[in-house]
Amino acid sequence: MRLIFLGPPGAGKGTQASLLTAQYGIPQLSTGDMLRAAVAQQTEVGKRAKAVMDAGQLVSDEIVNAIVSDRIDEADCANGFILDGYPRTVPQAVALADMLAGKGLKLDAVIELKVDESALVKRMENRVAETIAKGGQVRSDDNPEAFRKRLVEYREKTAPLSDHYASTGELKTVDGMAEVDTVTKEIAKILTAA
Ligand code: AMP
Repeated sequence: MRLIFLGPPGAGKGTQASLLTAQYGIPQLSTGDMLRAAVAQQTEVGKRAKAVMDAGQLVSDEIVNAIVSDRIDEADCANGFILDGYPRTVPQAVALADMLAGKGLKLDAVIELKVDESALVKRMENRVAETIAKGGQVRSDDNPEAFRKRLVEYREKTAPLSDHYASTGELKTVDGMAEVDTVTKEIAKILTAA
């Protein structure tokens, strides 16, 4: 099973992807997590990505395409994977299609979580509060200024992916404003039919 989750920051992509990993035994490939790990390890990619990420902007297609291509080749992706936060631009979607074709693979579904933008800032604030309550590390881009910038980047660069995947006939849409369990059930219905 090879899936893509689309939706703005705070839509619940990460939450739903992590529930599915357990169910299908396939990894969740979050480019945001991979980039944060590279920043923490101060790799060359991490050094290039840090300032861009902190400003809420998008890291270059070249960097993320390469990270994803390498990650997909790892053994735990043999039965599939869930892409969370990638592709984020139409050129990334085109690169992904080429990348998968080159590896002899294809996508099973592209699932978009539709949410009201007005709810997203509140969700980000809740995520920060929950992380602090658990004694975790708050993301350096989970602050109102960077978050607003991430929403602008989403609207300008990522939202056009819906039309892109609608035109390829791969897009399925789920109401991301529903309760987590309800969203999970709707996704399961789509996957059963895929
Ligand atoms: P996320 O954890 O998905 O919200 O991503 C956090 C940040 O990592 C984003 O604001 C971007 O700076 C960067 N990032 C993650 N995925 C991508 C991607 N596919 N393309 C470009 N930048 C990305």
